[in-house]
Parts: sequence; C-alpha cells; structure tokens
Amino acid sequence: MPIFEYHCNKCETKFEVLQRTNDTKKPLECPNCGTQDTKKRFSAFAAMGTPKETTQDSGT
Ligand SMILES: [Zn+2]
Repeated sequence: MPIFEYHCNKCETKFEVLQRTNDTKKPLECPNCGTQDTKKRFSAFAAMGTPKETTQDSGT
C-alpha cells in the first residue's frame, strides 16, 4: 500500500496519507489548518517486506 507524504504550504505541516489507488490527483486538506494548499512530497510502498536492519541491541 503506497504511503504518500504531503507537505502543507501554509503551516508547513507534514502528514502521511495511506491511499489504496492512485487517486492522488485532488489536493488533500491539511489536518492542521484545513487548507488544500498541499503538495505531495514523497511516496513509498509500505509493503516492501521486512527491513534489513533491526535495532534489537538492548543489552550486551
Ligand atoms: Zn496546514
């Protein structure tokens, strides 16, 4: 599932949105100030498998 990171041009809040399809044409409202003056900054796929590096270094 793709994760899209948006950036609000008004209050400079960054927020991530999970979207199932490529329905990313319409602007999203900023959850902080409610403006639609946002832009997509970054997208990544959450289902990339397991991360290679695990930080289980508690102890030793
Ligand atoms: Zn905002």
